[in-house]
Amino acid sequence: MRYVVATRNRHKLAELERLLAPLELELLPEHVALPPETGATFRDNALLKARAASTALDRPVLADDSGLCVEALGGRPGVRSARYAGEGASDRANLEKLVREMSGRADRRAAFVCVLALIDPHREREIVVEGRCEGVLAEAPRGERGFGYDPLFVPDDVGDGRTMAELEPGEKNAISHRGRAAQALLRELGLRP
Ligand code: IMP
Repeated sequence: MRYVVATRNRHKLAELERLLAPLELELLPEHVALPPETGATFRDNALLKARAASTALDRPVLADDSGLCVEALGGRPGVRSARYAGEGASDRANLEKLVREMSGRADRRAAFVCVLALIDPHREREIVVEGRCEGVLAEAPRGERGFGYDPLFVPDDVGDGRTMAELEPGEKNAISHRGRAAQALLRELGLRP
């Protein structure tokens, strides 16, 4: 089965292709507009994007939404992770804001969350899955790999204190919110036990 992915980001498409093999994925065609991410939850936003693109194309569509939820901040930045330091903010500006907001706080628990929504208009199928990666926030960023908040996030699963940005890509995929959501989706589709 071929699915359009409701994104304009080629890096995201490539990452999802690796995680979701054997599904065949393709980028959203230029002429299809994506709605603004106005939802209150990752689920709302993933469904908004999947439904809009699926209706416009009359084809099966996969959409995702993800972000970082910090307990001491009441779940922020959450759905606003990409624009935490303002509309169009860089990864670095968002990360620096989070470092400042967390300065001196004892409770440093956080989780990366990813929701994948798959809409198949012909079979009237709507699958929504969630993947989580639990961890704590370091005091200062470490590591060069990954993107976004990776340099600040120490996942519980690794257990040696490395941040997500210090992991090999294969190590990150095995435990990441996106990797887990992808596995859940493949299970729902009957492609994994
Ligand atoms: P989106 O899913 O493309 O909307 O991404 C939301 C934002 O969440 C990104 O811009 C990052 O700031 C953050 N984020 C999502 N996934 C990751 C990850 O795997 N590592 C680091 N940051 C992430």
